[in-house]
Formats: sequence, C-alpha cells, structure tokens
Amino acid sequence: MTPKFGRGRTIARGEDGFEAALLGTSFNAHDPGRRPALIVQANDEAEVLAAVAQARAAGLAIGICSGGHSWSQNHIRDGGMLLDMSRLDSIAIDAGNSTAIIGPGCLAGDLDAALAKQKLFFPVAHAYTVGMGGFLLQGGFGWNSRATGMACQSVIGIDVVLADGSLVHASETENPQLLWAARGAGPGFFGVVVRFHLKLRPRPRYVGMKAQVFRIRHLEAVMSWADRVGPDVAPFVEFQLVFNRKAMGIFAHGIEILTPVLADSHREARAAVAFIDNSPVRRLASFTLPLLPLSLGMMMKAGERTLFLPNTRWTADSMWMNTPIDPLLPALRRIADTQPGAPSHALWLNWNAPPSRPDMAFSLEARTYLALYGGLRGSTSTPRDESWATDHMRALQADSIGIQLADENLGRRPAAFMAPANLARLDALRAHHDPEGRFNPYMGRVA
Ligand SMILES: Cc1cc2nc3c(=O)[nH]c(=O)nc-3n(C[C@H](O)[C@H](O)[C@H](O)COP(=O)(O)OP(=O)(O)OC[C@H]3O[C@@H](n4cnc5c(N)ncnc54)[C@H](O)[C@@H]3O)c2cc1C
Repeated sequence: MTPKFGRGRTIARGEDGFEAALLGTSFNAHDPGRRPALIVQANDEAEVLAAVAQARAAGLAIGICSGGHSWSQNHIRDGGMLLDMSRLDSIAIDAGNSTAIIGPGCLAGDLDAALAKQKLFFPVAHAYTVGMGGFLLQGGFGWNSRATGMACQSVIGIDVVLADGSLVHASETENPQLLWAARGAGPGFFGVVVRFHLKLRPRPRYVGMKAQVFRIRHLEAVMSWADRVGPDVAPFVEFQLVFNRKAMGIFAHGIEILTPVLADSHREARAAVAFIDNSPVRRLASFTLPLLPLSLGMMMKAGERTLFLPNTRWTADSMWMNTPIDPLLPALRRIADTQPGAPSHALWLNWNAPPSRPDMAFSLEARTYLALYGGLRGSTSTPRDESWATDHMRALQADSIGIQLADENLGRRPAAFMAPANLARLDALRAHHDPEGRFNPYMGRVA
C-alpha cells in the first residue's frame, strides 16, 4: 500500500496517475492485469453517496477497497468503478460506554494503539496495516478470537450505502438482516460500509508470546504432537505452527511454534503455555524461548517484517479440516519440500471452533486450519512457485470442508466458504437489496 497522499480524486483509466492509484490500493504487489474504468478515492461520506449515484446513473459495477489487503485483490476487476475507502479512517472511542465508531479505512494497528492508551481491547487483525473494513466483513480472526469470538461478533452496528443510493443504519434491532450479512459476507457484501460501530472489552493485563523452533526434518513428530494436544490448549493461547525456509533463529528450513497469549496475569499465561516446555517433542527443538512480554503493536509490526512482507507477489489459499492429521502428513511433507523461499510460509492453526455461535453469515469453521502464503520477490520464480499455494490446496480438497474468506483464492480455486443455508439467505438478501448487481459478487463460487 502506498501511503495516503492528500485528498482523494476521481481518475479515469488512461489518465495520469491511474496505474499508481490502482496498484497502490493493493498490499499484494502482483499485477492481476484487471483494470476498472474509473477509480473514485472518496474523502468522506458525501463523496461515497455521490459515487454510488454516479455508478447507478452510468450503469457501472462497483468494487470496493478499504485497506487493500485482500490477497486475491478482489477489489480490482475489469471495468466498472473502484471505490477506494482508505481515506475514511477515523477512530472515535467512547471509553465510558466501551464502544467505538471507526471508518472502514482505519488500520488494525492504529485502532489497537488508540485502544491501548485507554486500556481497552478489540480483536483486530494480526498485521498492523490490515484494513478494518475488509477484515470485519469477512468475519475477522483477530487477536484472541478463540476466546473473544470472531471480530464481527463485536460489530454492533454499521452505516451502509446500499445499491439504491440510500444510507441506512443496521443493528440488532434496526435492519438486522443487513447486520447479519455484514457479519461474514466479506468480499460478497452488497453495499458500502462507511462506519462500523464496535463493542470494546477491557484490555487483557498480560500480553506475550512463547516460541519454539524445529528443523523441518522433525515435521511428522511435531505436527502429530500439535494435532493431539490442540484441543486442550487454552482458548486465550493462539497455537500456530509455521513452516518457513528461513525459520527464526536457525535461518534454515524449519517449523516455528508461535504462541501469543492474552491473559489476566503472567502466572496464568505461564501455566497456559507450559505444555510446550513439557512436550514429548521438546528435545527435538533447536531452541525454545521463554514466555516474553510483548505488546500487540510489536507483534503486529514484527509479523510484517518477517512473514508478511510488502512489495511481494502473494498467492494465498486455505482449508478448514476436521480430519485427524495422520493421513495428511505425506501431503504436509510435500508442501514443505516444494515450499518457495521466505517469505512464503505455511500456517497450521489450532482452532477447535466453539460448538455454536450467534446466527450470522459467518458460518464455516472447523477443528484445524491450514493456509499457504506463497510470497515471491524478484523475477526468479518458477511456475511451480507461482502456483504452490493453489496446487497444494487443490490436491487436499477432499480433506477440507471449505475455506476462510480471510485467505480466499476464489478466482483461481472456488471452494465453500459458508454453510449452504447461510449462503442461500445471503443470496436472497443480495437479490432484494441489489437487484441489478451493482456490487461485484464473489470472484468464484462452487456450483
Ligand atoms: C498481511 C495480512 C495479514 C492478515 N491478517 C489477518 C488476520 O490476522 N485475521 C484475519 O481474519 N484476516 C487477516 N488477513 C486477511 C484480511 O483480513 C482480509 O484480506 C481483509 O479483507 C482485508 O481487509 P482490507 O480492508 O485491508 O482489504 P480490502 O482488500 O480493502 O477489502 C477486501 C474486500 O472486502 C470488501 N470491502 C472492503 N471494504 C469495504 C467496505 N467499506 N464496504 C463494503 N465492502 C468492503 C470488498 O469486497 C473488498 O474487495 C490478513 C491479510 C494480510 C494481507
């Protein structure tokens, strides 16, 4: 993402600055080759209303971006209007009522920094520069989300411009079907959100992380152990395993165990990560770091300096799975063997979804999550590197129940992303609120 330079303007394809404005919307440095006819960089709500009216009058389809972190660059389509919401990035915190109203262009890290000053918390995304707009709409796997729920569960209202040009508020009691859809429709939402109303929580008193690193030759032993202990790991511990060709500390192909903890006390946090020190695979580890106090801001920035580098051509793909890990071990070994160089990485995440959630569009999750992030830099990549994430996820399709919209790759590999009944309800809402298809649909759907 390029920094936000001055006031936004409207730029037609062919005009000076169009290419820079378009590609500057995207965290992913890949050029998808798609080109809209027009970019509208909205400065405020009035300009959003004017842009939707203009698109209606001209019969243009609308693509929207806030932080531009869609791996698939969902907002960049051929033809139509691209509505860039990144300048609507306000943050207004009401500490007395534990609520906040934010613009969709507000960044995860900026919101967290503002909340930290008031000892408040919201489960923002794990990387500093992720836009809250797209993050909240797809569900939002934020910090501590296993304990606090999906971030969208803490969205208590939205202000949205619909296809008919009206600006409406939606909450549990007012237009509740729009709030239902905004909690999980992600890149298939049928309106422009200009504000999110959030419920805040007290900030956890202890934030830290424990890490352990293994050589990749121990993959089978480490993954089998992690899969076995995952269900017993406390919900306020994020238990993540990352395959990395330049693993932390060993600078060689390895598996990083990264366990951020957001707890009430250091003692509680230490007890919750003790399973790593006591594990049967600990003697295979190259090293183990003690539990270290770290701020969320530090962890967010560190992630973007190590795993999620900008100026990189990314392809991400993902799968939810309920199957035990044993039959998947050969596939995980193939993923590691063919993994391109850093910053490409594979993430295995212990999730163990709760038995039920409130009724909302977000409706697909499972025991474990596997995501591949192919990140290429320079011009030396091979076609196999380019399609590493997509190819391996396609090969594992039979073991998966679907994907996360956070890491969707629907344009290249359509897959299930919502429970069928929820998708049918979302389709009906879209047909009602956007009968002419003003807002771009998902880039791909399974039949
Ligand atoms: C480095 C990195 C780290 C990430 N970490 C996490 C994480 O920890 N947890 C997680 O859940 N996800 C994570 N993601 C995924 C991320 O949440 C999604 O890609 C999300 O869509 C990004 O939001 P955005 O506003 O930045 O993206 P955008 O690309 O701007 O938006 C994505 C899509 O959302 C829709 N949209 C955006 N804004 C609006 C709006 N105002 N009104 C209506 N529709 C809109 C559009 O369809 C758009 O194409 C990460 C992604 C990256 C690149």
